[in-house]
Amino acid sequence: MVININPSTTPYAVLGHPIRHSLSPRMQNAAFEALAMDAVYLAFDVPPEKLMQTLPVLAELGFAGLNLTVPLKEVAFRGLADLDEAARRLGSVNTIKIDAGGLKGFSTDGEGFLRAVRETFDLSVKGLSLFLLGCGGAGRAVAMACAAAGAKRIMLADADRTRLTKLEADLRALGLKTDISAVGTEPQAWRRVCREAELVVHATPVGMHTGEPSVLPPDAFHSGQRVYDLIYMSPETVLMHAAREAGARTSNGLGMLLHQGALSFSIWTGREAPVAVMRRVLEEAVYGKKAEARI
Ligand code: NAP
Repeated sequence: MVININPSTTPYAVLGHPIRHSLSPRMQNAAFEALAMDAVYLAFDVPPEKLMQTLPVLAELGFAGLNLTVPLKEVAFRGLADLDEAARRLGSVNTIKIDAGGLKGFSTDGEGFLRAVRETFDLSVKGLSLFLLGCGGAGRAVAMACAAAGAKRIMLADADRTRLTKLEADLRALGLKTDISAVGTEPQAWRRVCREAELVVHATPVGMHTGEPSVLPPDAFHSGQRVYDLIYMSPETVLMHAAREAGARTSNGLGMLLHQGALSFSIWTGREAPVAVMRRVLEEAVYGKKAEARI
């Protein structure tokens, strides 16, 4: 890819700490190139204590949009005055739009998940019963978005009781009709409740490394269930494999990564994102050149 950078090129960037792993530059630069836009997307390592002094400098230099990743999303939420509803509800910012009006924070993580589920399973979460295993940053985004989108029931589980209890309380505080329950920290209890859910979402990091066993065994699933694993580094994770053995329909998390980025692109540019191009670039980066043949 050749980017013709010149004095009028509009810069964008992702900030995180660390940031070397980020796939956003590939995905967003491919989008700019596909639409022949004079723009470039970079990546910077910014420690959390420096974020709020870095943002005005980037604005001054002409950056028109930013993505934020771990551990900056909550720092930006606390530091920015202008936030969209999703960012306010979640307490987290993954997208910043910069224009003459200043800096505005958005969160596209939850909507990215909802779009991915709709696309992959042809499924809306409205009226659904969900089991969510993993109540960290990503799990919170999924749970908040599903509650706001009208899920009937969300059953939460995590190994960390403090995180579990906090998400349960935050979801209840939304005052929505969704029935919220915390299943607890014991894997034995998760299996039973998992079988009751129409949509299972896995949001722990277990399975990212080769050789790790699935947090849920095949007998936690049944045929007809939809199982969405947020891990996107392999076409089929260990948890997806276990669920597929039981006859469930499965997906990895690449679609969520894609759609949160596509939504950021549209917020910054006001244009529809070239989703097919962005998906191809992500698949090549994650699965290698043979992506199309394997997925
Ligand atoms: P996180 O903030 O660290 O949260 C993970 C949660 O899972 C923590 O509460 C953790 O508890 C818990 N956990 C860890 N091991 C567990 C186990 N064996 N059983 C039950 N709970 C366990 O991580 P995150 O940022 O939410 O990310 C979670 C996963 O989602 C990662 O694999 C990440 O790559 C993926 N992700 C995907 C996307 C996407 O777009 N597809 C976006 C963001 C994240 P402890 O802290 O006690 O370990």
